[in-house]
Amino acid sequence: MSGKAFVLKYLKIMKNIIAREVKTNNSISEEVVLINNKRLISIAILAVMVNFAHIFLFATQLAIEDKQELSWLWGIITIHSIMLPIMCLLGVLAFMQLRATKVNILMSVAQNTAVMIFLLAGALLAAVDQLVATNITAFLSVCIAIGLIFVMRPVRAIVAYLSAYFVFYYALGVTQSDPAVLLSNRVQGISAVAIGITMNLILWKNNAKNILQNKFIIAQQQELAEKNHELEELAFRDSMTMLYNRRGLQELIKQELAMMARYGNYACIIILDIDHLKEINDRYGHPIGDAVIEQVSACLQENTRTADLVARWGGDEFLILLPQTLLLDASLIAKKLRKIIENKLMTVAGNEVCITASFGVAELRNESDDALELAYRCADQALYLAKEKGRNLVETI
Ligand code: GH3
Ligand code: MG
Repeated sequence: MSGKAFVLKYLKIMKNIIAREVKTNNSISEEVVLINNKRLISIAILAVMVNFAHIFLFATQLAIEDKQELSWLWGIITIHSIMLPIMCLLGVLAFMQLRATKVNILMSVAQNTAVMIFLLAGALLAAVDQLVATNITAFLSVCIAIGLIFVMRPVRAIVAYLSAYFVFYYALGVTQSDPAVLLSNRVQGISAVAIGITMNLILWKNNAKNILQNKFIIAQQQELAEKNHELEELAFRDSMTMLYNRRGLQELIKQELAMMARYGNYACIIILDIDHLKEINDRYGHPIGDAVIEQVSACLQENTRTADLVARWGGDEFLILLPQTLLLDASLIAKKLRKIIENKLMTVAGNEVCITASFGVAELRNESDDALELAYRCADQALYLAKEKGRNLVETI
């Protein structure tokens, strides 16, 4: 492999790795902003307390004569006085967004501003400290604190830290006149930035891992819930016609009975049984008999209201629940259905089959727990009568 090809190959690998990282980072950015929002509230409260403490303590020392020390005191007081209202505002903004479940631009702006304010304040405080001391504790503490508290995308963290270092570097040049101390502090500043960035990267990696794991678990739970729902649905459906089966209808009727008891609703049931299906089975074969059952079920679904519940009760028998329907109207509906089935020439496997069905209609009265059983018994008697009288009839009890 030539040198150029080698470099190109590794550039491509790097590109893929970066693309994958960016994709992962993008997928968790919303969660990260929500995490930071909560943290910003606590850190803003803490910062305000620290600002107050500094302003108060340094203000009590303003009587001193030394000009250099006086500049130092005023420098510290000024920085904390600027920070104080900004931190109050950012804290309030974060608090107002506490209940938000979706990320908005205000949240991101508040967090990024907070990070920059902290880092810049750290750099300037360290520079002001040079008037009376040689340490850069303020900058180091802020770099570590930000690295530990705020979860930031790596690139954003690097940009924030480098910008702060830029300010730190030049501000130190203004206040520190000793070249050796200046150089030492500037180098220490690099260490502080490196520590901050490293902590930030570790925090980011850990958070990314946790968020992705949580997301995976939630997605799996959702999938499981959907599958369970599907299975429950299937347990309530007849596999041939996809109508409710007896169990499904019994469950739904329980709800209907509860509505009837509560709101004084009323309902009727129709049961119908295909006439002479056994003969069709015998003459044309069982698959044709199946097709007849399927076509009758489609016919019933097409010609009933969406509020009505159609179920395959078993074999060639169907049950229809008609909510808010009086017995007289239920009987008219049954007659309409009887006619539709009679007039529908069913073509199954090239054979035209004429089908009829017999109907029994009864009221569903919510007088007892076994209301459905009672109604079914009445409708079944009516159906028996319809069969007795010669089939293809509607009878009511
Ligand atoms: P009737 O007019 O008295 O209802 O006569 P029938 O032949 O329809 O007899 P009945 O209702 O008493 O019995 C139902 C018949 O329907 C028995 C069985 O052969 C047939 N059957 C029940 N379930 C199925 C099914 O899933 N597929 C097919 N092809 N036939 C079925
Ligand atoms: Mg039958």
